[in-house]
Amino acid sequence: MTERCKMDPYLVGSKSCFFWKKGKVEIVDDAEVQNRRNMMFTIREYVKVSSLEEAYELNQKKTNVIFGGGVWLRLGKKHIQTAIDLSALGLDGITEDADAFSIGCMTTLHTLEIHEGIHAYTKGAVRESLRHIVGVQMRNCATVGGSIFGRFGFSDILCCLMGLDCDVELYRGGRVALTDFTRMKKDTDILVRVILKKSPVETVYLSQRNTATDFPVVSCAVSKDMQGYRAVVGARPCMPVEVRDTEGILCSKAITEKQIHAFGAWAAAQLAFADNTRASGAYRRHIAEVLIKRGLRQLTGGNDGCGFGCI
Ligand SMILES: Cc1cc2nc3c(=O)[nH]c(=O)nc-3n(C[C@H](O)[C@H](O)[C@H](O)COP(=O)(O)OP(=O)(O)OC[C@H]3O[C@@H](n4cnc5c(N)ncnc54)[C@H](O)[C@@H]3O)c2cc1C
Repeated sequence: MTERCKMDPYLVGSKSCFFWKKGKVEIVDDAEVQNRRNMMFTIREYVKVSSLEEAYELNQKKTNVIFGGGVWLRLGKKHIQTAIDLSALGLDGITEDADAFSIGCMTTLHTLEIHEGIHAYTKGAVRESLRHIVGVQMRNCATVGGSIFGRFGFSDILCCLMGLDCDVELYRGGRVALTDFTRMKKDTDILVRVILKKSPVETVYLSQRNTATDFPVVSCAVSKDMQGYRAVVGARPCMPVEVRDTEGILCSKAITEKQIHAFGAWAAAQLAFADNTRASGAYRRHIAEVLIKRGLRQLTGGNDGCGFGCI
């Protein structure tokens, strides 16, 4: 297996005196712990831009940042020279035509969660991926742009949208398939919108959390499209990745329980998982297999296997 699973730095420290810095665990004394906890991000200048061109130009400077809802940025300690606010550009809504839903980058996660058209089209998958994230007040601040551009390994919505058929529109980079976007290096482009295409794809989204509203231990979208079945697994704890049924395990018309078990075990074995404070890699692999099987059962119209003895 060549794929490597990089740890998410923010999740690593397990004791108050451990900090994760540039790939190394740093041990500091209690005073320094307090010192670092008291530090927060600062902003020198705030600019509400009147065009994407203006935002892009400003964003080329290393110390400037695009400000989505600021929900993630506020946890950092960055000294921001200019916070670039896109909220005057009319990018905070969802439009629908015959072929797709267009979701502006400033749309909040809660607006996406309660959009009836997307709820009906995705048969509840998008709503399921969002409803566990902290609380409604927080989801009324966090944006689709910040959530997708951030490419967080734990992101429920990123995992779910990868299980559907989505593109992102970048200001300079143009339209890119979401899966390709997740493999691109972070740069100074701007995510303008997410396009959720009305392709013939069915998706079930599931996640496992240690406690309600915590980050997911494993996130999982199981889909069936024109090419067959696939699973997208995230929070490994790194970025979601797709495993397609290239072995043809699920290629018969009526899917049996034996095939579901075989695909779940095979798919989980294709992925890399790692430990962090929430769970070990071995536990994650086990949970991923269970979620893939449950997702497949839901997709194929059977019992989702939540009952005892049927995982
Ligand atoms: C305590 C906590 C718990 C959370 N739990 C979960 C969870 O369980 N599941 C989950 O999926 N998510 C979770 N999240 C993440 C959350 O849902 C948001 O995805 C995240 O906080 C981004 O928020 P934001 O939109 O305010 O982005 P910001 O904080 O404003 O920005 C995040 C990054 O994206 C950049 N950015 C923002 N918009 C754009 C754009 N349009 N173009 C280019 N760059 C842009 C910013 O410059 C910044 O680098 C959690 C976050 C917090 C703080």
